[in-house]
Amino acid sequence: MASHIVGYPRMGPKRELKFALESFWDGKSSADDLQKVATDLRSSIWKQMSSAGIKYIPSNTFSYYDQVLDTTAMLGAVPPRYNWTGGEIGFDTYFSMARGNASVPAMEMTKWFDTNYHYIVPELGPNVKFSYASHKAVTEYNEAKALGVDTVPVLVGPVSYLLLSKPAKGVEKNFPLLSLLDKILPIYKEVIGELKAAGASWIQLDEPTLVKDLDAHQLQAFTQAYAELESSLSGINAIVETYFADVPSEAYKTVTGLKGISGIGFDLIRGARSLDLIKGGFPADKYLFAGVVDGRNIWANDLAASIATLSELEGIVGKDKLVVSTSCSLQHTAVDLVNETKFDNELKSWLAFAAQKIVEVNALAKALAGQKDEEFFSANAAALASRKSSPRVTNEAVQKAAAALRGSDHRRATNVSARLDAQQKKLNLPILPTTTIGSFPQTVELRRVRREYKAKKISEDDYVNAIKEEINKVVKLQEELDIDVLVHGEPERNDMVEYFGEQLSGFAFSVNGWVQSYGSRCVKPPIIYGDVSRPKAMTVFWSTMAQSMTSRPMKGMLTGPVTILNWSFVRNDQPRFETCYQIALAIKDEVEDLEKAGITVIQIDEAALREGLPLRKSEEAFYLDWAVHSFRITNCGVQDTTQIHTHMCYSNFNDIIHSIIDMDADVITIENSRSDEKLLSVFREGVKYGAGIGPGVYDIHSPRIPSSEEIADRINKMLAVLETNILWVNPDCGLKTRKYSEVKPALSNMVEACKLLRKQL
Ligand code: GLN
Ligand code: ZN
Repeated sequence: MASHIVGYPRMGPKRELKFALESFWDGKSSADDLQKVATDLRSSIWKQMSSAGIKYIPSNTFSYYDQVLDTTAMLGAVPPRYNWTGGEIGFDTYFSMARGNASVPAMEMTKWFDTNYHYIVPELGPNVKFSYASHKAVTEYNEAKALGVDTVPVLVGPVSYLLLSKPAKGVEKNFPLLSLLDKILPIYKEVIGELKAAGASWIQLDEPTLVKDLDAHQLQAFTQAYAELESSLSGINAIVETYFADVPSEAYKTVTGLKGISGIGFDLIRGARSLDLIKGGFPADKYLFAGVVDGRNIWANDLAASIATLSELEGIVGKDKLVVSTSCSLQHTAVDLVNETKFDNELKSWLAFAAQKIVEVNALAKALAGQKDEEFFSANAAALASRKSSPRVTNEAVQKAAAALRGSDHRRATNVSARLDAQQKKLNLPILPTTTIGSFPQTVELRRVRREYKAKKISEDDYVNAIKEEINKVVKLQEELDIDVLVHGEPERNDMVEYFGEQLSGFAFSVNGWVQSYGSRCVKPPIIYGDVSRPKAMTVFWSTMAQSMTSRPMKGMLTGPVTILNWSFVRNDQPRFETCYQIALAIKDEVEDLEKAGITVIQIDEAALREGLPLRKSEEAFYLDWAVHSFRITNCGVQDTTQIHTHMCYSNFNDIIHSIIDMDADVITIENSRSDEKLLSVFREGVKYGAGIGPGVYDIHSPRIPSSEEIADRINKMLAVLETNILWVNPDCGLKTRKYSEVKPALSNMVEACKLLRKQL
């Protein structure tokens, strides 16, 4: 029985690549320095897999920025604005595409399926001249070979590449991207030819778009493309790898019927129906790469359960044709548990990061081949049993309370327009009320104070005083600017999820559990391992302190349950909605404590609600239903006079506008400034929106300071489609990453624009 790994994290166990990249970009180190770090990382990963006993070891899953951008480089599809003049693409052109340079902006970046990884979107059109311009796949293959490791080079498959791209600027919006297949396949052939010549006997073509809702024409493109590649694939074995869900049955027919390929990979963790499809028939001449080890999470595999699945598959495809694999690339999980110094042994025994998953894959393959490592298996069984029965995991009261929520509805007693009236009587706000999203600039000094407090280098008193002083500064500034609804600025928070996770039970935090988000940027998701409860109030202390500094309303500031869920590693022993309901109950307690403490405006951020949307249309309604329900649970119990705000980051609201309305918040502020027209068109088309709404009036991601005329202009555009009495005025998102020298004038112009318009209305 053989073993296979779909892909491996490239950042390094301690984010070595991140630091090397950033130092290179800052001009502090040379290209050679960067290459040296990268070479060492690749070599250690290959050696690690090889000594673990993995048979099919991936190469070319390393990247200096992104694997889709690497493919763009391979195909020479550099947009003209980068002035590339041909030849092998070097760092200059590559990083200009990724990050922009002094004179041209970067290419667009977007989410990679439903992960938190972002890829660089290819910009294509009829005039793109494709050419073989990056030999990275071959170079990496040779590099591994020189180390004595025969690898499987991985390429983004040609059809997925096109389906993930967009028409370039100036190209018709509905330009048929798949019509470019004929132009890119010759380059794929060249690459495959070179890999064969270099000695590769296997190659992996990632075609994850096969799991999405594809139409007949798109499926046909797969059939065509692989028929076209058939002759160049002779003499080399190709795996078509799918992941992130099961492939729909039509796509299953397509992929199992592809010409020229030797194996197909399936995600058996997220792909609940894959097993049934395979049972329904699998081509006798093909290898099945069975993804039973989860690449998207951090839990130790249930080895006994995996053996059961694998044995069943063995009965269908035969011993020789079954390969044990990961569900997807391990780039979506943390790197190595070895560097976790803060977890206790029990918790550690429940977890497996990428390095541990390699060992699991190998152990499964060996066990199926009759060489079961009894010790490893029994340790795994013991760990699983301890997780199941641990009082750290199960909290009966929480389980009961969450179960009671199912099937019932939770809504505020009064409708939104009556509530807004009641709130206005109490708050007495001007028309076009102004507010901000929550955070104010986080200065170096502020970060130092938090760090020193955490490291117990300064006393609690000193810490509280420092934060208090900061809040006071932010409150005074907002009063000077004459903002109507204030925020405390979130100086005590490093991250909007971590801050709450650290105070809730059921959460654990790793030291090095980083996952690449884009380029050199990584996130360290909290790990939700147990039933979630709130031992004590989390924000009341700071919010009441802030409120006591001003007579204006001070927003209580919370992160919503769906966002906490979507930005964490979530337990796999109960459905996601169950965990979400538990978080919702904890946040509900916090909302009610804030209300009791006299906070009359409470914002519950759902920045990541849209992100959790499933990959397939048929599953969207179910997700939106429990996600929106979870949000309502947090605030259904407050009085009419308590105003509930929510905030959402940029996320294509148009297709989920009805769910947003169903959240039933009193006021929503949304990121919008890069897409005014798109958002406003929903309302122009007649969608009724009765609650307060604040589409951001300027982009906080840019250091540019908008003029008051420009802001007034945008507000006017909004007033053309929205009722005057529901419109709020605010920036796009939190101000955390900006400088005061940018924030002060920008907010001042925002308030000025408002005052001007109020006079005219
Ligand atoms: N309240 C948060 C802040 O202002 C919201 C951040 C976000 O939406 N990503 O930072
Ligand atoms: Zn935001």
